Amino acid sequence: MSDVFSGILGQPKVRDFLRSVVAQDAIGQAYLFTGPAGSNKTLAAYALAQAAICEDKACGTCDACKRVMRRNHPDVRYYEPEGSGGYLVEQIREIVADVDMAPIQAKRKVYIIDRVDLLSVQAANAFLKTLEEPPANVVLILLGRTQTSVLPTIVSRCQVVPFRHIPHTEAVGIVCQNTGVAPLQAAVAIQACSGSISKAIDFVRSSERFAFRSRVLQILESLELADDLDILGYAAEILERAQAPLDLVRKTQEEELAASAEFMAQAAIRQVEARNKRVLSAKSTETLHQTTSIMRSWLRDVLMVCSGQPELVINEDVRDAIGRTAAKTSAERLVRALSALDETDEAFRYNVSPETCIDVALFTIREELYGSHSARFAAK
Ligand SMILES: [Zn+2]
Repeated sequence: MSDVFSGILGQPKVRDFLRSVVAQDAIGQAYLFTGPAGSNKTLAAYALAQAAICEDKACGTCDACKRVMRRNHPDVRYYEPEGSGGYLVEQIREIVADVDMAPIQAKRKVYIIDRVDLLSVQAANAFLKTLEEPPANVVLILLGRTQTSVLPTIVSRCQVVPFRHIPHTEAVGIVCQNTGVAPLQAAVAIQACSGSISKAIDFVRSSERFAFRSRVLQILESLELADDLDILGYAAEILERAQAPLDLVRKTQEEELAASAEFMAQAAIRQVEARNKRVLSAKSTETLHQTTSIMRSWLRDVLMVCSGQPELVINEDVRDAIGRTAAKTSAERLVRALSALDETDEAFRYNVSPETCIDVALFTIREELYGSHSARFAAK
């Protein structure tokens, strides 16, 4: 059976449940999807949003369905915590105010609210009334890691839909089955996409993304002999290639806005523009994290070789380069380089310019792996 829910891989029970809800025309108003990262909750939430918005029971092919799938339908909103430790009370108040406004294009509005396990008691309190009695045309889909990590006052007001943890070998199998690639390549993609199966499938299907990964790994290997100017060049190249997919998103957004602008009020246009900007910024963060994931998987592989566990190498296709690097550095140095990447991710989150983040990451990795620049050249 192929429908908008077929994409919810590895979660047959969730798929059946959502299909029955739609078949009975019984979409509820408040759901809580619980499950670990990579269990396909977000994808399922967007599929349910399609079902709620589409005039033809989630056909998957109409303009509304397509927009939801591309994540730029003005009546399907996605939120994640904007504070460093979770949701800000102001952010929740903004959502609450928005819920009361009429939909822009569809008959219903859908709110996908990620990481509700990061709702403080105060932020949750600001949300309870809306959650208990949302306007009739609103569907709230809350996503959280585990049911116990979500405040009971939130859980009790939602219909809970549990997602199972998908074991790594099964995840690899799913990616292979859906793309036809070898298990090793699937494992690399899953690693590069921080465990997300659906993103790993997109990653494998895009030859451009795979070429990008190869280039990043090549750059990492050449860091030993790179001078400062080389590193600045590498960083600029990585950033440009990492963010290449954004051009397509931007172009699609511009075309869609141009096509519908004449039918829309100024206020609605501004709202769509603001939303497009958020989608673009989320996509940008995603590509940056993908870049650090690729780097991390390579450093981890070098660490495996250094610590005598070469059988655990994931990036099999560059095993030779990994071996060469392992011979020139040490496990302690690799651990430090890996923690530098955690700091890079943190810096992205705090909106430090991506260019600076990648510059610093490459300089630090070089320094951690091979010692200071002068020491490296004195040794020759
Ligand atoms: Zn449709």
